[in-house]
Amino acid sequence: MDIKSADIEKIVRDVLAGLGNGVNPVSSASAPSAGKSRVAMLTKPEHFDIQEYPIPELTDDDILVKVEGCGVCGTDAHEFKRDPFSLIPVVLGHEGTGEIVKMGKNVKKDSAGKPLKVGDKVVTCMIFKDNPDITMFDLNKQNVGGADVYGLLPDDDKHLNGWFSDYILVRGGSTIFNVSDLDLDSRILIEPCAVLVHAVERAKTTGILRFNSRVVVQGCGPIGLICIAVLRTMGIENIVAVDGESKRLAFAKEMGATRSVNFKEYKGIEALAGAVEEAFGGHLADFAFQCTGSPVAHSNIYKFIRNGGGLCELGFFINGGDATINPHFDICSKEITTVGSWVYTLRDYVTTFDFLKRAKGIGLPMEKLITHKFPLEKINEALETNLKMEGLKIAIVN
Ligand SMILES: [Zn+2]
Repeated sequence: MDIKSADIEKIVRDVLAGLGNGVNPVSSASAPSAGKSRVAMLTKPEHFDIQEYPIPELTDDDILVKVEGCGVCGTDAHEFKRDPFSLIPVVLGHEGTGEIVKMGKNVKKDSAGKPLKVGDKVVTCMIFKDNPDITMFDLNKQNVGGADVYGLLPDDDKHLNGWFSDYILVRGGSTIFNVSDLDLDSRILIEPCAVLVHAVERAKTTGILRFNSRVVVQGCGPIGLICIAVLRTMGIENIVAVDGESKRLAFAKEMGATRSVNFKEYKGIEALAGAVEEAFGGHLADFAFQCTGSPVAHSNIYKFIRNGGGLCELGFFINGGDATINPHFDICSKEITTVGSWVYTLRDYVTTFDFLKRAKGIGLPMEKLITHKFPLEKINEALETNLKMEGLKIAIVN
């Protein structure tokens, strides 16, 4: 949308509002009134309220983005359920994307140096307002873990702080990327995909992950499935997927896994490791990615890896409890090299844009990862669906 059509939209809305009875839309309205934005405010655990706020004036460094869609993350589900981060009241949603409708005069380029204009499609990443040391030229400097992110900010007088809304106010000092060359579904998947681009970059530091490696991916939720996709775009062909759900394993094969192993069909870790070995034609894995949050799964995965092999543990985004391993058999005598991975750097974000194009280019069905789409006013239902573990990626689409 260019500035003219944005103006026209506003004029039409103003006229329509004038024709009405003067009563503002109730909080469950499916469209915002002129000059206002609906937000999904989490006001108490397991309850979002659709509230409407005036769109604030922009400073010379701000950008106003009309939200097109936002993925629901496991982090959102945790916060929705119990408020573990003590953010309530809060507008959640950090896997969002939309179109620039207005920007301050100082804004010229995105965080990677690409020009920005009204009508461009964008995503945000971290906010470094209080850390002037980090600039667009230091994309590698910091893992997002220590920074603020839109969608996990406490509420303030502007309110437009998360992507579960009609508009988001991107303030000066935030990282923003022009991703106009990606379709909406791809843009919604950028954030979770960056997690896997980062994990594979971490795995590569071991020197064990190579072109012809045998790789086992344990856990075929969105993270494991995207892991398989990233490996495929790197040219790794020999992938065995391990999960307990046959539907997910079938999708893992669509995503490029060569073979799958359903752990429910095997009694005990020896039998399961034997099945993985058989799936690789009589070999253990050179490298393993652990993509579940289950301590038992962590304990098991060492048995799938050959002597001198490598492991990337990325399943424990939050504390899932202690896991038991035998240091002698699992690590020392086998000389396993392990790396941990958590979130991503800004550099990984930029790499992810290319990954998504390559994944499409080699025909991986990335768009099938988004199994449910809900409008903003059905956000409570969306989060409940996520908590029921139905489907894969759930998205709010405006
Ligand atoms: Zn997320």
